[in-house]
Amino acid sequence: MNQLSVSRRYKILTTRISMNSQRQFLLKRGNCKAQWLTVEEIESRYQNLNNLNEFREKFRKGFSIIPDNDQIDPFENLIQVQSNCYKFFDVNECIPTASICNCKNNNSSDCLNEGCENFSRGVECTPLCLMGDDCSNRHLQIINNEKDLDVFRTKQYNWGVITDIDFHKDDFIAEYKGIVQSCYDRTISQIYSMDLGRTSVIDASRWCNATRFLNHCCIPNAQSNLRAVDGLWRLAFFALRKIEANEEITIDYGKSYSQNAEICYCQAPNCAGIIGGKKEFEFNPNKWNEPSNEQTQFLKRFFAEKLWETIPI
Ligand SMILES: [Zn+2]
Ligand SMILES: [Zn+2]
Ligand SMILES: [Zn+2]
Repeated sequence: MNQLSVSRRYKILTTRISMNSQRQFLLKRGNCKAQWLTVEEIESRYQNLNNLNEFREKFRKGFSIIPDNDQIDPFENLIQVQSNCYKFFDVNECIPTASICNCKNNNSSDCLNEGCENFSRGVECTPLCLMGDDCSNRHLQIINNEKDLDVFRTKQYNWGVITDIDFHKDDFIAEYKGIVQSCYDRTISQIYSMDLGRTSVIDASRWCNATRFLNHCCIPNAQSNLRAVDGLWRLAFFALRKIEANEEITIDYGKSYSQNAEICYCQAPNCAGIIGGKKEFEFNPNKWNEPSNEQTQFLKRFFAEKLWETIPI
């Protein structure tokens, strides 16, 4: 058999778009350590690009929703909960409580600013807030968007969460719900547990809501935030930028996510390749509206064109 026609077996794990160089592929060949290679390097090393072309095909439609013909219920074997189940409470932790804020006298419009002594301490107002119906600092108590969040099958991931409605920057999206346990409990899930205050975690491995399925992205569009409600910490997700209906909602799992290095398929231009790994560059979503910044312009283009849909090789 002709030497050149021997197919070299390698596995493409993910790609990233380097701001300084160019698109790179994280490749693993046989038992060798995975390494980042540019398109040129790949072409010079490998004559047979069938696998790469397969990969391109696979990503051609990006992370668009694929028809869910198999009718698998994402919540199969899980228990959907309306609120957290507290199996652990850290009695030594000082959780701030709400006071009657001064917003009425300060002409605040909604209690959602640092001038509100509750909001500024991460505390939700109570129903007794003097702002009455104008008080919007009661997200977790009043708003429930869960009916507008759909769990869907993605091309790359098993499940993801897509929104039916628009969110503006800083809007409350939903609450992370599950069983509250001690972070020292050896039975807690490494994957589905999120920190809740000093020593507590919310474990959503079995008792959960749709937010259990939020995927990681190296440029997420949402982030979690602790809020104190009625003397208990709760975990809420807020929009980092405008999120449009039919967009997938993503968060950054952070550096402490899982002990096992897990490949990241987010395809963001700064993708670390590994969830929780070092990113190509940090992206500050607060600078989203500053078109003078070269990086922001690049990212705007990236999101406008959804580069992952056309990966040239
Ligand atoms: Zn207030
Ligand atoms: Zn208020
Ligand atoms: Zn990534």
